Amino acid sequence: MPSREKIIDHLNNVPQMPDKFTTKKKRPREMAVVLEDGCTGCEACIPFCPVDCIEHVPADKHKDAPIPPVQIRFDECIGCKICVRVCDKMSWSTIKMVQVDEFEKEYGIKIGNTYPGKSSNLLESVPSS
Ligand code: SF4
Ligand code: SF4
Repeated sequence: MPSREKIIDHLNNVPQMPDKFTTKKKRPREMAVVLEDGCTGCEACIPFCPVDCIEHVPADKHKDAPIPPVQIRFDECIGCKICVRVCDKMSWSTIKMVQVDEFEKEYGIKIGNTYPGKSSNLLESVPSS
């Protein structure tokens, strides 16, 4: 078992939760993507996102999983990496940052400069590895 000091040091680097939520003001260079196959749906990342754009995948898409994984409403993400740090520290390191340019090419979509409205842009398929 790790020492108490090691555990405290580990938890000291967990980001702070936001006091209030904000929204996207400009197109980020990077965005966060959940690798669904590795996500337990533990929800640890959800309250840390400053724009509140992480939510569970609809249950009917993952009928075999007791808890569906989470996904990110990609056009709302501001690329802050907080969820990546939280998942790395408290869960399974299953959120990755990707270049927005590459994401746009891969999925044939455009990421905007402003908040597009909640739930306006859920992905039908996300990377699994
Ligand atoms: S913290 Fe990681 S494993 Fe937990 S719900 Fe978020 S992405 Fe999934
Ligand atoms: S990178 Fe920041 S804005 Fe994007 S989903 Fe993660 S916590 Fe939310």
